[in-house]
Order: sequence, then structure tokens, then C-alpha cells
Amino acid sequence: MEIFDSALSFLEAAGERLGTDKKEIGKLKKPDRVIELQIPVKMNDGSTKVFNGYRVQYNNARGPYKGGLRYHPRVNMDEVKALAFWMAIKCAVVDVPFGGGKGGVEVDPKKLTERELENLTREFARKLAPYIGPQTDVPAPDVNTNAKVMSWIVDEYSKIAGEFTPAVVTGKPLTLGGSKGREIATGWGGVVILREYAKKLAMKPAETSVAVQGLGNVGYWFAKSAYDLGFKVIGLSDSRGAVWSEGGFDPEEVLFHKKQTGSVADFPGRETLSEAQFFARKVDVLVPAALENAITEENAGRVRAKVIIEMANGPLTANASRFLIEKGIRVVPDILANAGGVAASYLEWRQNLDKQSWAEKQVLDRLEEIMTRAFDAVWELSQKEKIDMKLAAYMIAVDRIVRAMKQKES
Ligand code: NAD
Repeated sequence: MEIFDSALSFLEAAGERLGTDKKEIGKLKKPDRVIELQIPVKMNDGSTKVFNGYRVQYNNARGPYKGGLRYHPRVNMDEVKALAFWMAIKCAVVDVPFGGGKGGVEVDPKKLTERELENLTREFARKLAPYIGPQTDVPAPDVNTNAKVMSWIVDEYSKIAGEFTPAVVTGKPLTLGGSKGREIATGWGGVVILREYAKKLAMKPAETSVAVQGLGNVGYWFAKSAYDLGFKVIGLSDSRGAVWSEGGFDPEEVLFHKKQTGSVADFPGRETLSEAQFFARKVDVLVPAALENAITEENAGRVRAKVIIEMANGPLTANASRFLIEKGIRVVPDILANAGGVAASYLEWRQNLDKQSWAEKQVLDRLEEIMTRAFDAVWELSQKEKIDMKLAAYMIAVDRIVRAMKQKES
């Protein structure tokens, strides 16, 4: 799979540049453990259906395995392995004390009733219970899973553990130990990176235009936080269309329009564009925050941004990324830019372990510290080594993971 091959090529490049022992890099090319489960589920019509479930525990040198659970018909072991590796790298880039993991079930959740989905999740949780726990492996929501799915897992796990154990997963509802600020966290974390990067490049917020592809959770909170810091948000899009205004938008008003009409398109008095036109417009900062592979070899040539901040996971294909960087466009990699999500998960876990509930401001301030420190480290290394930020981020992550692995062995 392209994502895993590309991640492994960065692992090798980072290892070579760091002068890391090849044996250590070799160890990081394979996960610690792969778990494959059969999940029999009682369906509403009385029949029993068996689903395939996976959990990959990639590396725990720096702390418990950490990563989401996705429900999707195309979930498979290869994909889960790649995503688990990515989580190990991401946690190390922002220096939160977690390793990497990922899991999922091969299922189309839209074809299940709520009750069937609950039966599936509870059975999956019972089967996963021997392998997960607050100090061993901490799942979270991912594609098609949410706070409700997490609450079923907490409930099943707590029954087996004999005590209420909210720290077994993150991304829970607030009433079950979820964290305030979680919804905002990924977008806000990305804007902290934007703010710090703009300072380094001497770009003043009021003179810096931003376009965000994908006005979902991440994209909206990115656009709103950037707007609140004084950046000029001039382009916004969703799966049904895009809107553009050189004068700028208030993202809250565009979201209101989207809620009324189902899309950002046709926002009154502004220009509606196609996806191709959106990517080809001149803008200072382009933020793909929708899905993977949004910018490929096909459309990369038309991009006229100065900076790209990867808020989605893998929104640039490896070739597109290489092409854009060679063209002089600065790319902030997803493993740094969207790591506010996992950093907020760490803060949720911390609150659960300490039996505390922090105010939203406390969560967002801690997040700001984590993201600023991570940005500074990546920026400084990229400047010192004269390399792009992606390779710098990989070098920092690989160095941290390998050092932890070696310390455990010695
Ligand atoms: P979401 O479902 O809330 O939002 C996705 C948005 O993208 C929707 O508004 C959708 O309309 C839009 N979209 C889909 N296809 C599009 C297209 N072709 N053009 C323009 N817009 C399009 O999802 P999200 O939680 O915001 O996640 C977005 C991305 O960020 C994903 O890649 C996800 O893996 C990544 N991510 C999310 C988090 C998090 O905390 N939610 C953390 C890290 C990374």
C-alpha cells in the first residue's frame, strides 16, 4: 500500500541521516503484534454474522499503544498496519508518551442498525479486552466510530476489569470522562502551527490568506481559529462545492449556511467554484483538511499556494509532495500539523488517570504548549540540516523511538 511504503521510505531516509543502526530501523519495519479476531454478532433478524476485526500494536517503546478503531468495509490488515506505524511516528513527533496502534472492523456500519452496531462493538471490546488497557493499549475513535462507540467499549472493559476504567479509550463523551476542547483540538493545534510558521516566514496574519478544503470537524475549527487569530480566510470547500472571496469570510457564517443548505456552495454574494478551480486559486496557505490523496500528480501542477498545511491524513500523495517541495512550496506534514488530535487524547487520558476534569482553556493551553514545542523542534532541525519539514519530523520521531527502544534493552 502506498501509504505504508511511503512511510517506510521516510523511516529509512531518517535512519540513514541520523546514522541509526540498520538493525534498529529493521525492527521498526514490523509491528510488535498483530491481532486478528472473529466477531460473531447477533443480528436483528435472529441470524448470526461473523465480522473480521483487527488491532495492530506497532511499537510501545515510548508508552502504551495508541490509535483509533475504524469501521469500514475496506478495512484490512495492511492498512491497519500502516496507520499504526503512523501513530507511533505522530506520537513521537509531538512527544506525548504513547506508542502507535490502530484497529478496525471490516464492516459497513451504515448497513447495521444501532443495536447491531452496539452488539458488534461490545463483542469486539470483550475480545480485545485482554490486549488493551490504560497502560497497555488505548484505542480511540476513527472513521465511522465516535464517542458513543467508545462508551460501549468503556462499559464492556470496565465490567471485565471490575472497576470503571475510562482511561482505556479516549474520545469519550464528556459524561464518561471525555475531555473538554476535544472537538476543537485538531483544528486549533494546526492553527498554532500556522501561527508559529507565519512568524518564521514573516507573514503577518492580516496579510496572509488561507483556503481550507473540507469544512468538517478539522477544517471548520482550523478556519475558525485562523479567523479568530486575524488570518484572512478566503476559500472554503466541502464535498459538494467551494466558495471564494478575496475579501474574506467569517467561517461561522459559512458553517451556518452549510447547515441550512447542506453545502458551503452558493454562499450569498460570493463566488462558487469547482474543486479543480479551488486548488488552482492563488492563496498564501492552502489547507487540505478533507480526505487522503486530495492533491495528486494530476492537480499538483496547478497549485499556486506558498505554504500547504496537511490537516487531513495523507492529503498529498508522495509524488505530489515531492513535486511541490521541489517547486519551492513549503509543506507542513500531517504527522506534525494534525497531531493536535492525539495530543488532546493524551490530555484526556491524563485527566482520567488523575481523576480530574480540566477547563477547556487549560486543555487548549496545554495543547498549545505541546504543538509549539513540536513545531520549534521540527523547524530548527529542518533549518539546521537544510531539509524539508517532513524528513525533519521523521528524524525527530525515529530518534526518540529508537533511543527508547535501546534504553529498554540496555
Ligand atoms: P469530517 O468527516 O468531519 O470532515 C470531512 C469534510 O471533508 C466534510 O465536510 C466533507 O464534506 C469534506 N469533503 C469530503 N470530500 C471532499 C472533497 N473532495 N472536497 C472538499 N471537501 C470534501 O472529518 P474530520 O474529522 O474533519 O477529518 C478530516 C481529515 O482529518 C481526515 O483525513 C482525518 O483522518 C484527519 N484527522 C482528523 C482528526 C480529528 O481529530 N478529527 C485528527 C487527525 C487527523
